[in-house]
Amino acid sequence: MAHLKSDEYGVGDAVLLDEITEDAFVANLKRRFSKDKIYTYIGEVLVSVNPYADLGLYKPELVETFRNRALYQNEPHIFALSEATYSTMRRTHQDCVVIISGESGAGKTEASKRVMEYIAAVNTSKGRAEIERVKEHLLASTPILEAFGNAKTNVNDNSSRFGKYMDIMFDFKAEPIGGHIKNYLLEKSRVVKHAAGERNFHFFYQLLTGAPDAVLSSLSLERNPSSYAYTNQVWLLCFSVCDKAGFDEVTTAMRTIGFDDAFIECVHKLVAAALHLGQVAFTPNGALCVCVSVSVSVSVCLSVCTTKDALLKALTTRVVAARGEVIETPLTAEKASKARHALAKSIYGRLFSHIVKNINTCIGVKADKHTALGVLDIYGFEIFPSNGFDQFCINYCNEKLQQVFIELVLKLEQDEYAREGIDWVNIEYFNNHEICVMIDDPKAGMIAVLDEQCAIAGGTDAAFLANLDRSFKSHARYSSFQTDSSDTSCERSRDFRIRHFAGDVVYTVDGFVEKNNDTLFHDLKRMLYNCDNAALKDMWPEGADPLTAVHKMPPTAATNFRTSMDELVVALKQKCPFYIRCIRPNRHKAAKKWEDDLCVHQVRYLGLMENLRVRRAGYCNRQPYEVFLERYKMCCKATWPHWHREPKDGVRKIIEELNLKDEVAFGNTQLFIKNPSTLQQLEDIRDAK
Ligand code: ATP
Ligand code: MG
Repeated sequence: MAHLKSDEYGVGDAVLLDEITEDAFVANLKRRFSKDKIYTYIGEVLVSVNPYADLGLYKPELVETFRNRALYQNEPHIFALSEATYSTMRRTHQDCVVIISGESGAGKTEASKRVMEYIAAVNTSKGRAEIERVKEHLLASTPILEAFGNAKTNVNDNSSRFGKYMDIMFDFKAEPIGGHIKNYLLEKSRVVKHAAGERNFHFFYQLLTGAPDAVLSSLSLERNPSSYAYTNQVWLLCFSVCDKAGFDEVTTAMRTIGFDDAFIECVHKLVAAALHLGQVAFTPNGALCVCVSVSVSVSVCLSVCTTKDALLKALTTRVVAARGEVIETPLTAEKASKARHALAKSIYGRLFSHIVKNINTCIGVKADKHTALGVLDIYGFEIFPSNGFDQFCINYCNEKLQQVFIELVLKLEQDEYAREGIDWVNIEYFNNHEICVMIDDPKAGMIAVLDEQCAIAGGTDAAFLANLDRSFKSHARYSSFQTDSSDTSCERSRDFRIRHFAGDVVYTVDGFVEKNNDTLFHDLKRMLYNCDNAALKDMWPEGADPLTAVHKMPPTAATNFRTSMDELVVALKQKCPFYIRCIRPNRHKAAKKWEDDLCVHQVRYLGLMENLRVRRAGYCNRQPYEVFLERYKMCCKATWPHWHREPKDGVRKIIEELNLKDEVAFGNTQLFIKNPSTLQQLEDIRDAK
């Protein structure tokens, strides 16, 4: 436990700092960071600062150092936290989860990969093929999902543009038997448009630069991203992402996990279809559009196995049924072009979910008795120069996760001390509950206000903003150009601002209504469903409805997202949580560079000081008296082999005999232990018996 003492590296557990101040805490992180010690604990919470450099911290041989060791027996490390999670699950047979949070670029995805790698490595299967196969499959899911769901943003060259919650399932021997992935809202608008300096999803470039000639020609594609409207927008090269090698890696991973050639071909075709759709030109003829560039439309047809006539019709006219009559209306060139973008986004979005579904089929578990270890890696808090609907959802998601952290780490812990009658001075912390309610109150929240616009014909972004102003003009967390023209952050009349827990974000309302509606014209769905392709039928089942069917309005994108967040929160709260709090140390993706203001800001909004205060004043472990007595009764003459009186009195005897009175507190139903070393001492005594 030498590392826990203060030395040239600072302290490994911030609980041991002499002074519990923000300055001391940040100085300790900075000092450690400057010596390549990127990990620091606050009790059992792991704080990780992104070094943007390979420090050689994850060599496979290091796994042995952490196997079967308690957290505090080693240097702070992500492997130690992974071991703690795994061993808790193994010992208690309780589902556990590693919740990884932090802003974009802070290192969440890298952390989630290290956790999975550790879990795979620590499960030495002694060469048992079945377990090796399961592990291979689980690990293969990562490069596939990253290729299709990650992209270069201005903050992060490999930014997750979807949320991912992965459960690894174990049998009663704690050996992995499979897994399950749940994906959350993909930022599919990126398929057709992205900000200057950013890119489309990695796989577009991987396909165009890495696929063999024969594959490209079968898809009528040229080996050149600059030839395509969706991939030529800016900055084609991204030096830290190797697209060519990426294609081979993804193909190998798809084969490893069990995707057959037909499915891989279908994936290629749909990505190609999206690229070709971006090329379609609509020529205005008076007010209407009549002509579509023929060679491209033929390529789209080939990609999605539809006929040219069906495609041309679906792209240039709208067919609706009204009062039993089928009415066909030609589209304007502008509308046709928009519908085409919607089709490309829809194809890619549903393809992504379909890939996740197929991965789940490949890694799924048949046995219903299992324990799960979950890893949550979701998009981090984002503030871009221009923020829209996608950032609104992403930042709302981060508000919800902060709530989980507050509930489980700050609130429940303090509530429990009060309930157990332990002396305790409550620690104040900022609770972001009011922000969550402002956004997601089912009747009056921002999402409800947005849905209202989406439900009426002719709903507009401007009306949405006007309604927001009306509903939230006096809310401390809201302002807009209209409600407060002195607020210079909202420069334009189409902006509104939310004061998030992690900082102020100005959103532009343009596109909110359309993105929330997330509609694809029914004729396009019918066209896709009627293609000669089973996968497409599976992806657009609603295309089977007859034209005259009355369609109930499907839930909006934001409402779907809110529901999935609610479900996620419920699922997380049912598991035993472990936390990794990631920090982005500088704005330039620069190796080993520390910017004070940026780090202090994150320490503040992540609530790390409150976390530290609760922890420092608190107890690292608690156990019901019966459980403690059963485990340690052998350490005391009076309680061994049987204790027939109150368990609490038996525990008192043990604590007295071992001289640990100053190290514990007696609650109403549980014993509270201050330091991990006491727990270790007890275990050592038990082992020696
Ligand atoms: P987003 O919310 O945008 O998905 P993120 O928190 O998942 O962001 P990562 O993609 O994990 O961020 O990290 C960004 C980059 O920082 C990585 O691509 C890698 O180059 C670097 N990085 C992160 N963590 C580490 C680490 N522990 N060691 C070395 N480099 C790292
Ligand atoms: Mg990520």
